[in-house]
Amino acid sequence: MIVADPKPFAEIKGYIEKYEKILIVGCGTCVTVCLAGGEAEVQMLASGMRIAFGKDGIRKTILEDTVQRQCDEEFVIPVLDRVREEGIDAVVTLACGVGANFLADRLGNVPVFPGVDTTHYGAAAENGVWSEMCAGCGKCIVAYTGGICPIARCSKHLLNGPCGGSSNGRCEVKPATTACVWQLIYDRMKNLGRLDELANLLPAKDWRTASDGGVRRTVREHLYGLK
Ligand code: SF4
Ligand code: SF4
Repeated sequence: MIVADPKPFAEIKGYIEKYEKILIVGCGTCVTVCLAGGEAEVQMLASGMRIAFGKDGIRKTILEDTVQRQCDEEFVIPVLDRVREEGIDAVVTLACGVGANFLADRLGNVPVFPGVDTTHYGAAAENGVWSEMCAGCGKCIVAYTGGICPIARCSKHLLNGPCGGSSNGRCEVKPATTACVWQLIYDRMKNLGRLDELANLLPAKDWRTASDGGVRRTVREHLYGLK
């Protein structure tokens, strides 16, 4: 899932100061799970903004909405209709950066402001803790590393590790919170009876799959019977 952190309240308040009718839109998928931008966070932010602007003696209308996914046209159309029909002056989105871009592309002259900072692709490590697992490199190599990603989970992104700083299974960069991923890979390959494969050094990665100098696209029209 995509993990995000709520932006500071004062920063969001500053974005919308000059607008009167504001719609705060949450997303019901990743940001709901990581407690950054779902319906509950929309309600809290909207209530906080009403109180804060009220204390400042500033009249504003703060409206709320949450859709299942802000990165999919069919879920976003009702928001676009609402913005148009209700004369919304500005939108604050609590979706990840994808949702913010998707709305901004479709909202003409209505500004869209982010209410969260999108940080990484991660999974729940424990209750209330999400840990980075994938960096979207475009050419997955975990077949060679026991299913564990050294790109996203090694602080130095080493394709052949560990580095000299690995100690007691911990990463030297953030020992308190981060396991040395190359220790994890070693242990996993050992459990799988595949330790000998680690002697095959991985070649330098072709990073063009991670950023091809333009906007990466996935074309799968044939699956929709379009081609
Ligand atoms: S190798 Fe690339 S695609 Fe695979 S998990 Fe790591 S970053 Fe993600
Ligand atoms: S200690 Fe392990 S995880 Fe940390 S940078 Fe070195 S190889 Fe990577």
